Amino acid sequence: MGQSTYYFDHAATTPMRQVAIDTWVENAGALNPGGNYASGRASASVLDQAREKIAELMGADPVEVIFTASGTEADNIAVQGLFAASASNRIVTSSIEHSAVRDTVGYLRDKHGAEVAEMPVTGEGHIHDLSALDEPAAVAAVMLANNETGAIQPAEEIIARAQATETPVHIDAVQAIGRVPINFHALGATTLASSAHKYGGPRGIGFLLARRSPAPAPILFGGGQERGIRPGTADVASAAAMAAALEAALGEAHEENGRLRELRNQLRDRIVDLVPDVRVNTYEPALPGHLNLCFPGAEGDSLLMLLDNASFAASTGSACSSGVNRASRILLAMGVPEHDARGTLRFSLGRTTKQEDVDALVAVLPEIVHKARAAGMA
Ligand code: PLP
Repeated sequence: MGQSTYYFDHAATTPMRQVAIDTWVENAGALNPGGNYASGRASASVLDQAREKIAELMGADPVEVIFTASGTEADNIAVQGLFAASASNRIVTSSIEHSAVRDTVGYLRDKHGAEVAEMPVTGEGHIHDLSALDEPAAVAAVMLANNETGAIQPAEEIIARAQATETPVHIDAVQAIGRVPINFHALGATTLASSAHKYGGPRGIGFLLARRSPAPAPILFGGGQERGIRPGTADVASAAAMAAALEAALGEAHEENGRLRELRNQLRDRIVDLVPDVRVNTYEPALPGHLNLCFPGAEGDSLLMLLDNASFAASTGSACSSGVNRASRILLAMGVPEHDARGTLRFSLGRTTKQEDVDALVAVLPEIVHKARAAGMA
C-alpha cells in the first residue's frame, strides 16, 4: 500500500486510534445482538455499553443514539425522515452544506416537491441572514462546521430561531465532533449526525442522535432495529470502537485544539509570507486543524499532483468529475471568484501532525505553486 509521508488530509479521514483498533479486535467475534441466547445477549451488552458511553459523552439519552453505517446515512435518515414525518413541504438549509445534506435536499426538491430556502454565507464562510427560519419548515438542515474551510456555524442561533416556529433542526456535526464541545440536550437540536472515521474510529460507522419526538420517519425498512429508524443487524465491534475513539478524542480535545491551532496558524503565516498572492479562506470561528487556501493562477489538480509526487497528501476540498477541475461550490458561495477558487488546496491537520510535517510542507510548497502556475490553467 502506498503511503504519503506527510498527511494533511485529516478532515477527509484520520487514522484509526490504537484504542479503537484494540476495541474493535476485542469485539470482532461478537454475534447478532438480537439473538435470544447467551452469545447474542453478550453482544447486545457490548452494543448497549457503546450506546451508553456515546450518550453520556454527547449529553443525550441512550435511546436517542441510533447507530448508522456512515455520516452520509445519518444525514439522509434525518433529512428525509424529518421531511417525511412533517405535513410541511418546506426545507431550510444553507449554501455550504456537504453533499450528504445538499444532495438529499436536492432529491426531496426534485422528486418530492420540497420547497427549499437556502441561507447565504458571508465572505468568511459563516451562515448569516437567518430570516428563512422565520417561516415554519419540515426541517432546517445545517452543518456545525464546514468540511472545506472549517468555518464553525452559528448553530445555537439557528436552533433558537427555528424553535420559534417549531421547526425541527438537523445538525450535521460530522466535521465538528471531537473538536467542538457538544451537549445534544443543551444544544436543542432535533437530530445530529456523526461519523467515527473523523475522530479516529473505523470507517463505515456513525451515529445519529434523534430525540423521541419529533422523530424521523423511517426511510429504510426491515428488522426494526435502532427504534426502526435504522433497521439492520448492528456492527457491534465498530460501534464499540467508535465509542472508544470518541471518548479518547474528547478527552484530549482541549489540549489538541490548542496545539493544532498554533501549528495551523504558523503554517498559514509562513505560506502567506513565502508564496506570492495567496488567498486565505479559513476564518475564525473555525476548526483548529483546517486551512483552506487559494493560489490564483494554479489549477488545484496540478497542485495536488505535485504534492503527491513529493509524498504529501492534501485535498482540493472539492469534488472533481470526469477530469474537469471544478471550482468549489462552497468557495463560490462565499463570493470567491471562480478563477481563484480553481486553485484551492485544503490542508487539514490532526492527531499525527507534527512540527516536522509543517516544516516539510513549507519547504516544498513555494516551488510547487510556482510550477503549477507556470503550467497554467486548463
Ligand atoms: N458531512 C460532513 C460535513 C462531512 O465532512 C462528511 C465527510 O466528509 C460527511 C457528512 C459524510 O460522512 P461519511 O464519510 O461518514 O459518510
